Amino acid sequence: MKLIEITSQSRRDFQGKYKCEGCGNIEEHSGYDDRNFHDNVTPNWKCKNCGKSTLDLGIIPQCVNTKYPDDTVHAVFRRWDRRKWLSKSQ
Ligand SMILES: [Zn+2]
Repeated sequence: MKLIEITSQSRRDFQGKYKCEGCGNIEEHSGYDDRNFHDNVTPNWKCKNCGKSTLDLGIIPQCVNTKYPDDTVHAVFRRWDRRKWLSKSQ
Protein backbone atom coordinates (compact mmCIF):
# COMPACT_ATOMS: atom_id res chain seq x y z
CA MET A 1 0.00 0.00 0.00
CA LYS A 2 1.29 3.44 -0.73
CA LEU A 3 0.28 6.66 0.97
CA ILE A 4 -1.61 8.92 -1.40
CA GLU A 5 -3.13 11.45 0.98
CA ILE A 6 -2.93 12.43 4.63
CA THR A 7 -6.45 13.35 5.71
CA SER A 8 -5.60 14.52 9.23
CA GLN A 9 -2.53 14.71 11.42
CA SER A 10 -1.88 15.45 15.07
CA ARG A 11 1.83 15.53 15.82
CA ARG A 12 3.08 12.24 14.35
CA ASP A 13 -0.24 10.41 14.47
CA PHE A 14 -2.10 10.65 11.23
CA GLN A 15 -4.98 9.28 9.21
CA GLY A 16 -4.29 8.65 5.60
CA LYS A 17 -5.51 7.10 2.40
CA TYR A 18 -3.46 4.24 1.04
CA LYS A 19 -3.68 2.83 -2.44
CA CYS A 20 -2.75 -0.68 -3.46
CA GLU A 21 -0.13 -0.68 -6.21
CA GLY A 22 -1.53 -3.96 -7.49
CA CYS A 23 -5.28 -3.49 -7.86
CA GLY A 24 -5.82 0.20 -7.07
CA ASN A 25 -7.94 -0.48 -3.98
CA ILE A 26 -8.00 2.49 -1.58
CA GLU A 27 -8.07 2.02 2.20
CA GLU A 28 -8.02 4.39 5.17
CA HIS A 29 -5.43 3.70 7.79
CA SER A 30 -4.11 5.41 10.87
CA GLY A 31 -0.36 5.71 10.93
CA TYR A 32 2.66 7.09 12.69
CA ASP A 33 4.73 9.62 10.77
CA ASP A 34 8.31 8.48 11.21
CA ARG A 35 10.95 6.80 9.04
CA ASN A 36 10.45 3.34 10.51
CA PHE A 37 6.73 3.43 9.82
CA HIS A 38 7.02 4.64 6.22
CA ASP A 39 10.06 2.50 5.35
CA ASN A 40 9.39 -0.74 7.22
CA VAL A 41 5.77 -0.96 8.27
CA THR A 42 3.54 0.18 5.39
CA PRO A 43 5.45 -1.74 2.65
CA ASN A 44 4.33 -4.92 4.46
CA TRP A 45 0.65 -4.00 4.64
CA LYS A 46 -1.49 -6.38 2.67
CA CYS A 47 -4.31 -5.02 0.57
CA LYS A 48 -7.72 -6.12 1.83
CA ASN A 49 -8.87 -6.65 -1.75
CA CYS A 50 -6.03 -8.61 -3.40
CA GLY A 51 -3.92 -9.58 -0.37
CA LYS A 52 -0.67 -8.18 -1.78
CA SER A 53 1.73 -5.80 -0.06
CA THR A 54 4.15 -3.41 -1.78
CA LEU A 55 6.95 -5.91 -1.14
CA ASP A 56 4.84 -8.84 -2.39
CA LEU A 57 4.48 -6.95 -5.68
CA GLY A 58 8.25 -6.43 -5.89
CA ILE A 59 7.88 -2.64 -5.81
CA ILE A 60 10.46 -0.41 -4.13
CA PRO A 61 8.53 1.52 -1.46
CA GLN A 62 8.20 5.25 -2.07
CA CYS A 63 10.10 7.49 0.33
CA VAL A 64 7.54 9.48 2.30
CA ASN A 65 8.95 12.61 3.91
CA THR A 66 8.01 13.00 7.55
CA LYS A 67 6.41 16.24 8.68
CA TYR A 68 8.83 16.57 11.60
CA PRO A 69 12.52 15.63 11.61
CA ASP A 70 13.01 12.03 12.59
CA ASP A 71 13.86 11.33 16.25
CA THR A 72 16.16 8.45 15.41
CA VAL A 73 18.40 10.72 13.34
CA HIS A 74 18.46 13.30 16.11
CA ALA A 75 19.30 10.70 18.73
CA VAL A 76 22.39 9.71 16.76
CA PHE A 77 23.52 13.31 16.49
CA ARG A 78 22.91 13.95 20.15
CA ARG A 79 25.01 10.95 21.14
CA TRP A 80 27.76 12.07 18.79
CA ASP A 81 27.75 15.65 20.14
CA ARG A 82 27.93 14.42 23.70
CA ARG A 83 30.89 12.19 22.94
CA LYS A 84 32.67 15.09 21.25
CA TRP A 85 31.91 17.31 24.20
CA LEU A 86 33.16 14.68 26.68
CA SER A 87 36.44 14.20 24.82
CA LYS A 88 37.00 17.97 24.77
CA SER A 89 36.47 18.35 28.51
CA GLN A 90 38.99 15.66 29.45
ZN1 LIG B 1 -4.83 -4.77 -3.99
